[in-house]
Amino acid sequence: MDGIPSQPLEFPEWPQFDDTERAGLVRALEQGQWWRMGGGEVDAFEREFAEYHGADHALAVTNGTHALELSLEVLGVGPGTEVIVPAFTFISSSQAVQRLGAVAIPVDVDLETYCIDVAAVAEAITPRTRAIMPVHMAGQFADMDALVKLSADADVPVIQDAAHAHGARWQGQRVGELGSIAAFSFQNGKLMTAGEGGAVTFPTTEQYESGFLRHSCGRPRGDRGYFHRTSGSNFRLNEFSASILRAQLARLDGQIMTRQQRWPVLARLLNEIPGVLPQATDSRADRNPRYMAMFRVPGLSEQSRNELVDRLIEGGLPAFAVFRAIYRCSGFWEVGTPDMSVDQIAARCPNTEAIYQDGIWLHHRTLLGTEEQMHLVTQIIADALAAL
Ligand SMILES: *Cc1c(COP(=O)(O)O)cnc(C)c1O
Repeated sequence: MDGIPSQPLEFPEWPQFDDTERAGLVRALEQGQWWRMGGGEVDAFEREFAEYHGADHALAVTNGTHALELSLEVLGVGPGTEVIVPAFTFISSSQAVQRLGAVAIPVDVDLETYCIDVAAVAEAITPRTRAIMPVHMAGQFADMDALVKLSADADVPVIQDAAHAHGARWQGQRVGELGSIAAFSFQNGKLMTAGEGGAVTFPTTEQYESGFLRHSCGRPRGDRGYFHRTSGSNFRLNEFSASILRAQLARLDGQIMTRQQRWPVLARLLNEIPGVLPQATDSRADRNPRYMAMFRVPGLSEQSRNELVDRLIEGGLPAFAVFRAIYRCSGFWEVGTPDMSVDQIAARCPNTEAIYQDGIWLHHRTLLGTEEQMHLVTQIIADALAAL
């Protein structure tokens, strides 16, 4: 391609690790006890993670999907209840609801930020609504001012799907300071990772205690008499993962700083390509960790978009098609489904219909590259689009 050096574009690898992770693993190993009730890594990680996000309590769990399930269970979500979720998200947002026997109600997202549309949430509230689940898409906060107000007015709690939002801030406030439960993921691709893993931050001690019991088969800490006080499951994180996550957390701020410098450069350059629209940034989301570099080519068919992604990959970019609208996945229709057809949901989700077909994302390691590379990335996208 014109103007592109012949050597492949090399971005930093993901995940990243060094002697801190190595030392952590050995530390966990040599404790001799490898579960949280015997070791100290999970406890220490929870304290550090809670403090980092301004939350009173954090609970480490097996993965982000379980973090959502546990959060919803603490909020009383179960058969006969509904949870409002964005139609454009990773499927765990709705699957967690459905696993609990509740109904997931998809609503549209904003065309610019790809986050849940608060007016659509307001319209979808019924007497059965037990929670509202915004997803902070790609690190971009959903409109928390409007959601906190709606939540108070309707008396329905918010549960933040913060799987993309480690270290994010909304008007200076951290995820744990917004008054609601938040669920995080540490899966391999996420902003900090142990391959798998998750965490929940809680604004109240009562919710945390309920979460703790439910994540450990209903069993109180230190119990020796098999007093299982609540229902639950085993969502406990192991000591090795926690030791790695402590090292990952210590590295997060530096990585966020780099990505925060790169994104405005890349977004400005992408904006200059005719037909390309980068994800908008709400200025109130004043710290965005940039989990994905997302953009749309409005009007592109799903097939052309997929072709474009293939060309970007050929050009050396870690590029992907965005999430499919959840109601367009057959798995969404197995359990806990709303009393509507696909077409009815699609008709009330025009923005989701557009984004899922013409949206593309680049892995966040792209944004850990050099500023010079942002120009190369843009050139590859411009060339691929021209060739389409
Ligand atoms: C990754 C992700 C999850 C689930 O996390 P896992 O750790 O993979 O189970 C939930 N919600 C969103 C939006 C995600 O991207």
